[in-house]
Amino acid sequence: MNFTIASELRRILFLLAGGFLLSWYFNTLWPAVLAALAYIVFSTTQLVRFHRWLRQYPGNWEPPESFGAWGDLFDNLYRMLRKEFTARDELQQLITRAESSVTALRNAIIVVDKRGRLEYWNQAAERLLGFRSPEDHRQTFTNLVRDPRFVSYLQSGNFEHPIDLPSPLDDDVQLEFTITRFGAGEWLVVVRDVTRLHNLEQMRKDFVANVSHELKTPLTVLKGYLETLLDTIPAEQKRVLRALMQMSQQSQRMEALIDDLLLLARLEGTEAGQHTQRVQLAPILRRLRQDGLATDPEKNHELVLEVDPAAALLGDPAELQSAFSNLITNAVKYTPANGRIEVRWWEDDAGGHLSVLDNGPGIEARHVPRLTERFYRPDSSRVTQTGGTGLGLAITKHVLIRHNARLEIKSTPGKGSTFTCHFPSYRLPPQNEE
Ligand code: ADP
Repeated sequence: MNFTIASELRRILFLLAGGFLLSWYFNTLWPAVLAALAYIVFSTTQLVRFHRWLRQYPGNWEPPESFGAWGDLFDNLYRMLRKEFTARDELQQLITRAESSVTALRNAIIVVDKRGRLEYWNQAAERLLGFRSPEDHRQTFTNLVRDPRFVSYLQSGNFEHPIDLPSPLDDDVQLEFTITRFGAGEWLVVVRDVTRLHNLEQMRKDFVANVSHELKTPLTVLKGYLETLLDTIPAEQKRVLRALMQMSQQSQRMEALIDDLLLLARLEGTEAGQHTQRVQLAPILRRLRQDGLATDPEKNHELVLEVDPAAALLGDPAELQSAFSNLITNAVKYTPANGRIEVRWWEDDAGGHLSVLDNGPGIEARHVPRLTERFYRPDSSRVTQTGGTGLGLAITKHVLIRHNARLEIKSTPGKGSTFTCHFPSYRLPPQNEE
């Protein structure tokens, strides 16, 4: 038994025994009654002091002076409260420190609850996005950042890449939104000012677009003269004719390169439209199959096309055609003679998918992530053989981004490659709208 309780029991026993002894000696009950009353009064007083002390906590720290079991109770409780108070104090300091460091950040930090409402934001969010405290607390995020691109980005649920948008306060300020999911469906949104980077990127795009555009006119003149010369030089002058033919071929390559550069500049430099046009895929893919077979008839490729005649996408027909054309042309270009190429379109719960599979040379895994970079080629010796511009997959990637789609590349060296375009289901037109 606890030492304090034992001594307390001893004290009660001693008091009552004394009272009973006196009662027996004086032959009256009074001493026993008085002893019991004394103990009751003492305990009640301690109880009242205890209650008063608890009500004063944490204003008055010091516990009331007492002894015995009551004193022990006061001391133990005092130690427990003190421990809890210190822990709470430390936690509060930690929260304050975290809060002040988040406040000092130049990037906006926003916490959005699972219903899309603002739960917390720092001062930078007020500066960059114009949030007002406390009025905007629990406001829906998309009521404050209303840009349709942002709304569809949120709807897509794919936050792998951040999105750049002008600030709702100032069109000249460019912001980058990065969204991370956490907890039970909440989002942490980090917004940073990327105006300087954006301006530099814009300068680069303008430069490439302008250079390509400026090169086009002199090249057209050169090509024109070359064609005239080819028509007029007599067939006997074989060496001159061969030189002219090569010049003409190279000028055609240059023209293709400039056209691709201009197309890429246009894809990057213009806003993607809402793309609500219904694009029938079967006629496009059939035409591309014919073109593919006609490009290199000697190779005798087997080019299989599997597409539902009703297959359709919401998008830009010219852009989609050029994206698919690059994949099919590459398959034809890189697959050796008598190879097999399969072009397949299918739909499932995730959306629509177009795959171009070949049993060509394949690509080493280390090159795959870089294939969509401009002018990236795993093997530079192939360039002269194939005569590509090195921009085909970059164009495909940009077209797909503009259609909220993505390109997946799977390849095994020596066995072949599969390039698949994955379109989200909201890019598929509603069934009844035939
Ligand atoms: P290019 O004009 O060189 O074809 P692309 O951007 O279209 O430029 O392709 C980049 C590179 O990816 C090509 O140089 C080639 O090495 C590789 N590649 C693309 N498609 C295939 C394919 N079907 N099989 C093998 N390699 C391919």
